Amino acid sequence: MYLYNTLTRKIEQFNPLNPPLVTYYTCGPTVYDYTHIGHMRTYINNDLLKRTLNYLGYRVKHVMNITNVGHLTGDDDRGEDKLEKGAKTQGKTVWEVAKFFTNYFFKTMDQLNVTKPDVICRATDHIQPMIQLINQLKRKGFIYETKEAIYFDTSKFKNYGKLNPQKKQEKMTGAREEVYIDPQKKHPADFALWFKLVRRFKNHTMRWHSPWGDGFPGWHIECSAMSMKYLGETIDIHAGGVDHVAVHHQNEIAQSEATTDKPFVRYWFHNEFLLVEGKKMSKSLNNFYTLEDIEKRKIEPLALRYLFLQSHYRKLLNFTWEAAKAAQDAYRKLTEIVLSTKKQIQRQTLSLEKLDKVDQYRQRFIRAITDDLQIPQALAIMWETVKSNIPSSDKYDLIADFDQIFGLKLSEAKEQTIPKSVIKLAEERQSARQKKDFKKADQLRKKLRDLGYQIEDRENRFKIRPLAIDRRP
Ligand SMILES: [Zn+2]
Ligand SMILES: [Zn+2]
Repeated sequence: MYLYNTLTRKIEQFNPLNPPLVTYYTCGPTVYDYTHIGHMRTYINNDLLKRTLNYLGYRVKHVMNITNVGHLTGDDDRGEDKLEKGAKTQGKTVWEVAKFFTNYFFKTMDQLNVTKPDVICRATDHIQPMIQLINQLKRKGFIYETKEAIYFDTSKFKNYGKLNPQKKQEKMTGAREEVYIDPQKKHPADFALWFKLVRRFKNHTMRWHSPWGDGFPGWHIECSAMSMKYLGETIDIHAGGVDHVAVHHQNEIAQSEATTDKPFVRYWFHNEFLLVEGKKMSKSLNNFYTLEDIEKRKIEPLALRYLFLQSHYRKLLNFTWEAAKAAQDAYRKLTEIVLSTKKQIQRQTLSLEKLDKVDQYRQRFIRAITDDLQIPQALAIMWETVKSNIPSSDKYDLIADFDQIFGLKLSEAKEQTIPKSVIKLAEERQSARQKKDFKKADQLRKKLRDLGYQIEDRENRFKIRPLAIDRRP
């Protein structure tokens, strides 16, 4: 397996510390708002990596955190706590907001067939390990205290910024543009490990006792504390969106490695962004699409998953409704083919030549997925397999095998039942045609279309096909 490692900026051979075990941490959601397509893409790509490793025979131990405290609206200590802000605008308690959006997140993941992590851990359940970690950093001289917070002193950590050296330069020399900064903070790159309940946080509802007075943890410390608690001081893979490279992951490395003097993560896996109709997602464009928005346009969750499989995780993906509809069509077509292949299955003895062909498809598939997760290529190989002349039983086996990674539930495809009323309308149309009443036939055809069915004429017979997409204007 070869993977791109953000740390070295190279594609490297993947060698876990203790094979077949792979320790895998994915940065989880901050649960103050709806899960949108940007998140969906990230977690689907994280899932593809996990499924690939499992497919290759590794045993992945997967941990994901749920951020329900300390994540400010600016990643670098600016602004207010996202949960507190969400609670204020929605007129709920922070705990209600966290619970609601945690459930929403997992419901979305479930519909996208994203496998559940082995351990799901909430920040608020791990305040003690975070305090312990801060204490260890204190003993080693990496922190300082101001009237408002406890900070990690980045000038004491010589490798600060190694994940993204360019960004480090910007941060080091960039003007202080923070809307609010603690006047006692020594350096813009320093980051809060613990916030005290003063000034902007005077009325913060989530609060705990600590050696530095009552307060709440900064965002970054939770991932170090939980990763170490469940997976050990050095782990194999840590995954997240590219938006985490510059600040969050930089800070995770600093506080973890300053504590343990060991590498925190061996392979950093980052997903590229997603654009919507060529533009960045933003409040003003109102394009933070949720799964409900997608389904309203008659696109199934798994068709969205299919869409995401078509682009490599390190490439910018431009989401358009046109592409989504095309993905829905392709996904529907694929499930139809799988279903008819399943019906044709007869176990036959294979000729050597065909056996060879079956092997070749599998070999090429494995080559694609192990080449820095070339899922789009793997998908193309599946389509080749689907269209090939290998016996249907082997074809079906291969598709089911490949789908362990794709996660499209292809072997669960079911035939759609067509309502009797629809069949009746189609028959009426058929008899109108036979009587050469084409006007009536066309009207009925349009009616069927409005109901979501397509009529395909085949000589004297007709076929009713549920429309994948609503094409009504
Ligand atoms: Zn992370
Ligand atoms: Zn994190």
